[in-house]
Amino acid sequence: MTTPDLPAPSDFIRAIVAQDLTAGKHGGRVVTRFPPEPNGYLHIGHAKSICLNFGIANEHHGVCHLRYDDTNPTTEDPEYVQAIQEDVRWLGFEWGDKLFYASDYFEQLYLYAVQLIKKGKAYVDSLSAEEIRRYRGTLTEPGKDSPYRTRSVEENLDLFRRMRADEFEEGAHVLRARIDMASPNINLRDPVLYRILRAHHYRTGDKWCIYPTYDYAHPLSDAIEGITHSICTLEFEDHRPLYDWVIEQCDTPHRPQQIEFARLNLSHTVMSKRKLLELVEKRYVAGWDDPRLPTLKGLRRRGYTPEAIRAFCEHIGVAKRDATIEAALLEHFIREDLNRRAPRVMGVLRPLRVVIDNYPEGQVEEVEAVNNPEDPRMGTRKVPFSRVLYIEREDFREDPPKQFFRLAPGREVRLRYAYIIQCTGVVKDERTGEVVELRCTYDPQTRSGSAQAGRKVKGTLHWVSAAQALEAEVRLYDSLLQNSVGGPTDAQDFTAQLNPHSLERLTGCRVEPSLAGSSPGHRYQFERQGYFCVDPDSTKDRLVFNRTVSLKDTWAKVEKAQRGEESG
Ligand code: ATP
Ligand code: MG
Repeated sequence: MTTPDLPAPSDFIRAIVAQDLTAGKHGGRVVTRFPPEPNGYLHIGHAKSICLNFGIANEHHGVCHLRYDDTNPTTEDPEYVQAIQEDVRWLGFEWGDKLFYASDYFEQLYLYAVQLIKKGKAYVDSLSAEEIRRYRGTLTEPGKDSPYRTRSVEENLDLFRRMRADEFEEGAHVLRARIDMASPNINLRDPVLYRILRAHHYRTGDKWCIYPTYDYAHPLSDAIEGITHSICTLEFEDHRPLYDWVIEQCDTPHRPQQIEFARLNLSHTVMSKRKLLELVEKRYVAGWDDPRLPTLKGLRRRGYTPEAIRAFCEHIGVAKRDATIEAALLEHFIREDLNRRAPRVMGVLRPLRVVIDNYPEGQVEEVEAVNNPEDPRMGTRKVPFSRVLYIEREDFREDPPKQFFRLAPGREVRLRYAYIIQCTGVVKDERTGEVVELRCTYDPQTRSGSAQAGRKVKGTLHWVSAAQALEAEVRLYDSLLQNSVGGPTDAQDFTAQLNPHSLERLTGCRVEPSLAGSSPGHRYQFERQGYFCVDPDSTKDRLVFNRTVSLKDTWAKVEKAQRGEESG
């Protein structure tokens, strides 16, 4: 008899987890965690980590903890704590009662440190920060021992206790691990475990004036929570020996295993929280939820769905080598998702007035429009048609180039779901010469769906009826950075690379009346223009839309649809 094959793990981390389960490691448990520091909003890179950690836990009926890595009082804020929970939930993941704060472990971490001192594995160093740096050596030269490295256990215990008791100035002492100042791995050259920081912590207040470093607090937080697989990004690979040293020396009941993967880098944008914060604080963008940012709040406001982001994260997978993903790939996933579910409507971004001279004044007829050709269940709606309409300004050319099949003097086009019209005159502003109105005639025999509708014309345009259309503001976005990658080094001023045209606001746009009362977050496809999402800036009287993404190949699509209509 053969056992049915399980699906092969889709990446190397899942392979490790599967192997561990087979080997009975960690008692058959899978416990992961997502450990954000509450010093900023989550971005698409965090989404990759969230999908991975919650995903792996879910696949094995395990649990994933949400843990705030809040050991650095100077940068953390409860505003971020709240926002992070909202974003993880929005993305579609749930931690149940597994919500933790590293700051809740301060007492335990302190006691572990006392144990390390007693074992001779940690000492209080009184060199200045600058001296510590100098003593550390370089990649090619070993470091050298601090003169305080040989302090007695008693003296270390006394000093560490007094550090906690707020008897010293910041920088006077630090607690260091006693490992090896000559280690080829600089992270093992007696790393700092605690420093004095007389800072107010958003949760523990002024209770502490010493704070643990990340390298010390993180492995112990994992161990305290019984994490089995501690998944982090590649830059911590060289810290893994220290992670293991801390676990080993503190002799914790649980032994989590650190596994590193390549972080997500996305082209044409910035991802580090430091840079995002700078953009927000210096007002290059309107806030953390500015639709140009790769933050989850920004993407959401832009119109991204959690489903599209999850599908993107699944598609890119996890690997061990750093790479930059093209922003266009993320766009591909939102298009795919919205193509399936966004209702189609007509909206004119840059309106040009059209008067149909032979259409009866005062008459309004309703034409039937398909809500989503991808999904017949979404049905149809009525759209008013009348004598005065708006079309897109760029759909008219007085002097059309060869391949232009839209409207021009004497030319015919079909108005989507309605009639074929012909341009018979052009009205211009006397002073500027700008085209302000087109005079047209319509052919009453050509209404879509009627027997003669099949007459051939090359172009199909979207339109709205002037009297019934709603006025709207539309915000169009382009990439945040002009180049595909931000500054290669942190020193470089990435703000010099910001795209000055990343936001274009169009006012006086017109959308069909079926959009009245649409609330923020609703998403639509404006035919031929892309996918749009109602912005929270909308009011009762004025809708504001963000363009989530343009259509991939506008013209090919419309042509295809048109061929269908003409032949059908
Ligand atoms: P940033 O570098 O953007 O400031 P961070 O790593 O300091 O981010 P944390 O709050 O510490 O931010 O991150 C929480 C978790 O998210 C960590 O486990 C981290 O590895 C992961 N993470 C952060 N950025 C990315 C990314 N670009 N790709 C994948 N995972 C990421
Ligand atoms: Mg971090």
